[in-house]
Amino acid sequence: MKILIIGMGYVGTTTGAVFAHQGHKVTGLDIDQMKIALLNKGKLYFHEPGLQEMLSSQIKKNNLSFTCDPETAVKDHDIIFITVGTPSLENGKADLSYIRQAAEMIGRYKNKEKLVVVKSTVPIGTTDEMEKWIYEYSNNEASVHTAMNPEFLREGSALNDALHPSRIVLGSESSEALVKLKELYKNSTAPILTTSTKAAEIIKYASNGFLATKISFINEIARLCDTVGVSIKDVAEGMGLDERIGAPFLQAGLGYGGSCFPKDVKELLSTADSLGNPLSILREVEKINRTQPSYFVNKVKRTHPLLKDKKVTLFGLSFKPHTDDIRESVSFAVINQLVAEGAKVYVHDPAVTLSTDWIRKGVTQCWDPYVAVKEADLLLICTDWPQYADLNWVKVKERMNGSYLFDGRNMLDKEKIKQLGFYYEGIGNA
Ligand code: NAD
Repeated sequence: MKILIIGMGYVGTTTGAVFAHQGHKVTGLDIDQMKIALLNKGKLYFHEPGLQEMLSSQIKKNNLSFTCDPETAVKDHDIIFITVGTPSLENGKADLSYIRQAAEMIGRYKNKEKLVVVKSTVPIGTTDEMEKWIYEYSNNEASVHTAMNPEFLREGSALNDALHPSRIVLGSESSEALVKLKELYKNSTAPILTTSTKAAEIIKYASNGFLATKISFINEIARLCDTVGVSIKDVAEGMGLDERIGAPFLQAGLGYGGSCFPKDVKELLSTADSLGNPLSILREVEKINRTQPSYFVNKVKRTHPLLKDKKVTLFGLSFKPHTDDIRESVSFAVINQLVAEGAKVYVHDPAVTLSTDWIRKGVTQCWDPYVAVKEADLLLICTDWPQYADLNWVKVKERMNGSYLFDGRNMLDKEKIKQLGFYYEGIGNA
C-alpha cells in the first residue's frame, strides 16, 4: 500500500520505517524542515535502538521517503496516518492544534476519497471532530473515512514494539476504513480488536492511566516500606508473582515521566472533569507522582540539610533508559531542587546533551561517569541506564569526596554497594 504519515516524530518515524519494512511505500511528511533534511540524508535525529539501521535500509530500497510538501503528499496518497504531537496545555487538556493543522492540510489538498487514521493519542471525540475539520477546509465532495488506531509503542524499545505489538486496536464507524486497515495489518500476529472510534480513544488513555496507577501505587507502598524498614523489592516481588497483578511496572522509584504518561493522565482527568465525571483514583496517582522527586530530595536532605556548595553528581537525564527523550523527565525536577538549594550539580547521561538553559543555571555536563563523580560529595541515580550497574564502583568510590549514594531507581545491589563503603539509600528501603 502507499501510505502517508503526517508527523515525523518518535511515533511517525518508527511507524513509517516499520510499514516500509513490511513492504509498503511510505512517505513521511513534517513541517519541521530540519528533521526532514536529516531524514532525507538517512539520519535519524533521535536515539532509538535499531531504528537507524532500518531507516537507512528502507530509504535505500526506495520504500521510504520524506517531504515538507503537503500538497503533493496528500494528493499522492489515499491512506494517511496522523502521528503529530498532542502535548499538554497549561490547563492539562491536550493541545489539538497540530491535529487541526494536519486536518487542514488534508482538507485543502484532498482530490479524491481518503482514509485518515489517527495514531496520535487524542481525547474522546477528537477523531470525529477531525473529520469535520477536514470537510470544513475542503472545497470538494470527495469523501473521507476516518479511524482511530492508537499506538502503544514505548520509546527505547519502539522498533520491537512496532514490529510485535501486543494488540492492534482499530476504532471506526466506517466499514470501508476497517476493511482497509485489516488488510494493512493482515500479516500481524497480534490480536486485532475493532471498536467504536471513541472506545479506541479511551483504550489508549485508560491503558496509560492504569500503568501510571501501578507506578504510583508501588511508590506509595514504598513510602510505607521506608517508614517500617521493609524492602519494597521483596514486597513487589511477592505481589508480582500473582498473575492477576503481574511484575511489570511494580518497580518503585522516582515516578513516571516522558511525553505520554504525565500528559495523558492530566488530559484524562481534565476531560473527565469537564464531562462531570471526575476520576478520583487518577487524581491521587498524579499527586503521588508529582511529589515523588521531593520525596527523594528530602531523603538526601536528611543526611545533608545544607546542600549549598556541595558537589552533587546526578546520573541519568532521559526519562527512562535507551532514549534521549527528556520530556517531563523526573531528573530535571530533581536538578531544579538541587540548584535551588545552592548545590553544584554535575550530570552524566549516555545519550542526552544538556541544553544551554541548564548550563546557564550552573549545571555541568560530563560525558564520562568517572569524571562526573570526581570529588563529588553525593551521587544520585535518576535514570536506570544499565551501564551504571556495570560501573567499577570501587573506582567511583575512590574518586568521590563523600560516600553518599541515593539510588532513585533501586537499580543497584544494596548489600554489595554498602560493602564497598557507600552510604546507600534507595526508595522504599530497597
Ligand atoms: P513528537 O513530538 O516526537 O512528533 C510529532 C511530530 O509532528 C513533530 O516532528 C512535529 O514537527 C510534527 N508535526 C506537528 N504538526 C505537524 C503538521 N501539521 N504536519 C506535519 N507534521 C507536523 O511526538 P511523538 O512522541 O511521536 O508522539 C506523537 C503522538 O503519539 C502523540 O499524540 C503521543 O501522545 C502519541 N504516542 C507517543 C508515544 C511515544 O512513546 N512517544 C507512544 C504512543 C503514542
